[in-house]
Amino acid sequence: MSVLSLSELAPALDAGFAALDPVGRLRLLRERLEGRIVFTTSLGIEDQAITHMVATAGLGIEIATLDTGRLFPQAYEVWAKTEEKYGLRIKPFYPQAQAIQALVADQGINGFYYLVEARKACCGVRKVEPLGRALAGASGWITGLRADQSDHRQGLGFVAHEASRGLLKANPVFDWTRAQVAEFVAANDVPVNPLHDQGFLSIGCAPCTRAVKPGEPERAGRWWWEDEAKKECGLHVTEDGRVVRTALAETDKSARA
Ligand code: SF4
Repeated sequence: MSVLSLSELAPALDAGFAALDPVGRLRLLRERLEGRIVFTTSLGIEDQAITHMVATAGLGIEIATLDTGRLFPQAYEVWAKTEEKYGLRIKPFYPQAQAIQALVADQGINGFYYLVEARKACCGVRKVEPLGRALAGASGWITGLRADQSDHRQGLGFVAHEASRGLLKANPVFDWTRAQVAEFVAANDVPVNPLHDQGFLSIGCAPCTRAVKPGEPERAGRWWWEDEAKKECGLHVTEDGRVVRTALAETDKSARA
């Protein structure tokens, strides 16, 4: 185990990840980082690939997911198939009952369409607060971020010290393309959401996700009614606590319904 501080360990691991495949990266992280490591899965295709790696490598990494209550039915099917195939439990984190009750009473069941502030409040209650509980006390956080998902994600790296959460954030498939992920899941018979084949490249909550058109960025189908400068749900923040945003394709208000 390392005696380095998290801020010292992050660049060392980041450099070490570059020469390894994703499973090797997970092993290196487990070897060098003491304490709990949590992989938060959105049940999307990258995260399903990582779930396969975590489950088959036997590294003692916890798998958690945020059940916002607004997921597609297909997401629950992938969740169940994954638990069955790998003989594991994906630990769910739900919104706080009082908070979600107050939110919906205040803004309505789909209030997020009408005000950016309402959308941020919904993401805050359904995602950001539960994520904080999922990561509480963890020293490592694994995500399925890929560099080519968006301009802003290209500026991230394999491993970063997320000081605001007091942990290392590791992105083991950061340098993989979507094609590499698709090839991996097909070769390993990993359960995936069938919506991916219908143009839903990045899948979040059902009312906030649409299929993308040919040529659109992968994440163009998320919160598509907002202008890009106001996007991101707040789950991925910089070291100093800022949410970094990126430019996106055209908004498509007609698809809002
Ligand atoms: S993605 Fe949409 S439904 Fe899900 S938490 Fe955010 S605003 Fe609410």
